[in-house]
Amino acid sequence: MTYDAIVVGSGITGGWAAKELTEKGLKTLVLEAGRPIVPEQDYVEHVPPWEVKFRGLRDRRLQREDQPIQSLCYACDEWSSKFFVSDKEHPYTTDEGKPFWYLRGRQVGGRSIIWGRQSYRWSDLDFEANLRDGIAIDWPIRYADLAPWYDYVEDFAGISGEALGLPQLPDSKFLPPMELNCAEKVVRDAIAKHFGGERVLTIGRAAVLTKDHQGRAACHYCGPCERGCITRSYFSSLNSTLPAAEKTGRMTMRPFSVVHSLSFDARTRRVSGVRVIDAKTRASVEFRSKVVFLCASALESVRILLNSSTTEFPNGLSNSSGELGHNLMDHIKGGGAVGTIPGNEDRMVLGRRPNGTYVPRFRNVKKKDAAFLRGYGFQGGGQREGWQRGVAQTGFGPEFKKLVSQPGPWRFTFYGYGECLPNHANYIELDKEKVDARGIPVLKVHCAWRENELALRDDMAISASEMLAAAGAHNIEPLRGFEPPGSSIHEMGTARMGRDAKNSVLNAFNQAHDVKNLFLTDGGAMVSSSCVNPSLTYMALTARACDYAVQQLKKGEL
Ligand SMILES: Cc1cc2nc3c(=O)[nH]c(=O)nc-3n(C[C@H](O)[C@H](O)[C@H](O)COP(=O)(O)OP(=O)(O)OC[C@H]3O[C@@H](n4cnc5c(N)ncnc54)[C@H](O)[C@@H]3O)c2cc1C
Ligand code: SF4
Repeated sequence: MTYDAIVVGSGITGGWAAKELTEKGLKTLVLEAGRPIVPEQDYVEHVPPWEVKFRGLRDRRLQREDQPIQSLCYACDEWSSKFFVSDKEHPYTTDEGKPFWYLRGRQVGGRSIIWGRQSYRWSDLDFEANLRDGIAIDWPIRYADLAPWYDYVEDFAGISGEALGLPQLPDSKFLPPMELNCAEKVVRDAIAKHFGGERVLTIGRAAVLTKDHQGRAACHYCGPCERGCITRSYFSSLNSTLPAAEKTGRMTMRPFSVVHSLSFDARTRRVSGVRVIDAKTRASVEFRSKVVFLCASALESVRILLNSSTTEFPNGLSNSSGELGHNLMDHIKGGGAVGTIPGNEDRMVLGRRPNGTYVPRFRNVKKKDAAFLRGYGFQGGGQREGWQRGVAQTGFGPEFKKLVSQPGPWRFTFYGYGECLPNHANYIELDKEKVDARGIPVLKVHCAWRENELALRDDMAISASEMLAAAGAHNIEPLRGFEPPGSSIHEMGTARMGRDAKNSVLNAFNQAHDVKNLFLTDGGAMVSSSCVNPSLTYMALTARACDYAVQQLKKGEL
């Protein structure tokens, strides 16, 4: 059967591509490697610890054997580990001494079920960064190209947050912000007083509804969003874009469809088929369409292209530039600080707000004011220590019971997320020896933090400690840990956009320079990494690319 469009993957970007293409009239097949998800059965956000087998402490033996990498992620717990891949079935390799955490979801909805929902626009500080610093290549677009598409995706997704009017972090079209708690207000006010407006603390900008929106209900603050959300209060493709695509009657969702590779017709210079291994029957099937959107995530989409070599493209389809797989980036973290905020001992929080605080980038914003390039922002927040702190304390009997039955002091933590520079030497390739459970060559990841990223991380510890000191915090502990590439789960850059086919894989509309009916709109397209979470930008790029592809189809150009 022939379709107008094929979308590979149904996570954040695949969901958007499915919605946009079907709403614009295209008969669209969505090929998703993982299983279907039925919210009424699979979502577990309201299941209490006493109803799960290991009371929330996980089956540690199983996790060690089946998910040794995935379980490194805070969100991969006894409830939501089912939304992460099996490392046994989906291995990858790295260089000795150069770890990379590859954290993935493989089901309808992809990682949109488990993501942290932090949603920030990028600015021209980001889009002009490579040009300004003479690093890698220039972005082929600027903020003005994407601004209407940010508006567009935000209108549908629903982003709550506070407008600040900062040039380095443009405001979104916001739903009302969530409230800061009392400790966060102490820290916010101290930062405003001591840093001359240069540093600002605000509530996180999150794809979580603070009022009913687009037929979805406002969040009721139950807390563990990575387990699903039956009221559809946060944005995920399952909660939002896929139902919209379904409603058009033009989407065919095909779960258990592992895309192996693409076939290329050298005569028409187009993708002529998408080869699939059925994950249940192991049969090989091929599908055809006028246009193909790769939305399988930055590494998996490129894996498909690397696995689609032809005589003309021996190192991966659409790789005439030699950049396919290269310039892999993530955000550096591990830097920050934690401290005790005195006072407010008579106050507690009500509910479990699924959001934290944010300090937008303040280094190298108006002028170059640090020894390193680029900058970082801080996520984090304040909370009262609970009874668990007693676990670390010695004692027994009535005194101990009394101690642990009272809440502890307010603590505040800053976690930095820093920009990673694009570097040709950070790359992925197909492993020549190892295959996954379906017999497809796995990825070999070569990636390491370099001097600039580590300098950012060290500076995070200093500036976060300064802000805690300004807020009168006690027991300030600077954080300067090593967290390997991949651990921020913002992998990107492996099929970058650019103006010139000689040094980039995609053009300014996410269309492959070498193969006109092929689009790739996930994180692979990014040319630099900014320091803010990337998924909102992937959404905007995807919606924009779909609009362009449909126009081109109508003109008969594809
Ligand atoms: C715990 C966690 C917290 C996060 N927090 C944030 C955050 O706060 N803000 C933010 O911006 N980002 C966050 N992220 C990152 C965010 O989830 C990703 O950037 C986003 O999901 C990427 O979208 P995608 O469509 O490219 O990939 P995914 O959402 O991963 O979807 C890819 C889909 O493709 C499918 N697929 C893969 N290979 C194939 C194949 N060969 N054939 C068919 N289908 C295939 C997969 O099964 C999957 O469903 C977080 C991620 C995690 C795990
Ligand atoms: S906290 Fe809000 S968004 Fe998260 S699962 Fe609960 S209701 Fe949904």
